Amino acid sequence: MVTSLLLAFTLAAAAPASEPQPRPAPPQEVARNVYLLPGGILPGRQPDGNTVIFAAPHGLVVVDTGRHTWHSDGILAFARERNEPIAAILNTHWHLDHTSGNRRLRENFPELRVYASSAIDRAIGGFLAASAERAREFLESGRITGTLAEDVQGDLATMDASDTLRPDIVIDGSLRPRIAGKRFDVRLARHAATDGDLWLYDRATQLVVTGDLVTLPAPFLDTACPEGWRTAMADIWATPFRLAIPGHGPALTRAQFASYRNAFEAFLDCAGGDAEASECAAGWVRDAAEFLPDDAARTDATNRTTYYVGMLRQNNGTSAHCAS
Ligand SMILES: [Zn+2]
Repeated sequence: MVTSLLLAFTLAAAAPASEPQPRPAPPQEVARNVYLLPGGILPGRQPDGNTVIFAAPHGLVVVDTGRHTWHSDGILAFARERNEPIAAILNTHWHLDHTSGNRRLRENFPELRVYASSAIDRAIGGFLAASAERAREFLESGRITGTLAEDVQGDLATMDASDTLRPDIVIDGSLRPRIAGKRFDVRLARHAATDGDLWLYDRATQLVVTGDLVTLPAPFLDTACPEGWRTAMADIWATPFRLAIPGHGPALTRAQFASYRNAFEAFLDCAGGDAEASECAAGWVRDAAEFLPDDAARTDATNRTTYYVGMLRQNNGTSAHCAS
């Protein structure tokens, strides 16, 4: 439901009428000079991914920029309060809940540089263009209303300015660039949650930023290549991280990441077998129980995972958008 406008239409309940803009969640200092601005998934709304901000020697390095204006407002307020420029954006992947804020951040800090993989170029001409076309049809037919219609209009506006999503500096391999005076270990995972995901390991704080390789309440498989994704999870595990910041949901300890990864592997194994979809969904809810705090989270997780089992089985074990 991350990016997939199409899926959003099938899963979203009737969206409420529009209401005052939510407030951005306050930043949390998760390690020295590293801040998490939590994304959210509000009822009747498309999600925002988490943003992680590194306070580097020559400015702020913003990892992912959210979808809604209230989320990018939170990033801009953080920079304003610290009186520091945003020197760079690093997009973990091109899903619009992680990149839509690029435009507003660029408007406010025209000097900033966007780092991302080249997967966005393929998505702009492919998945995103097709989603936008379908979204316009849905809007015109009046089949979506309220907050969901607002979100879709926002996504279409982002697509109209899709050049703001493209990287100034393309990262098409694993490397250690210096960004705003700070060294980052940036890893490229090919054919995982998208066909080019970046994740970071910060040696100074032993922290990883996983992007949507880890998401709650369930893995978001809309554009996934599950085998590459399994490899990426093993590569993350191979670093000596202590804390993992996921694309959606709270920070995980190393032990919690291990538990999430086991649940993820078991879910993919189940989806690849003969069990009923409901059984695989129940398995996820059981194995990931520590991450699903209430009935709403469990219901959401059940709906998503049930859908994903059907989706994977229709496409020989991958999403229809897996290019590998
Ligand atoms: Zn996401």
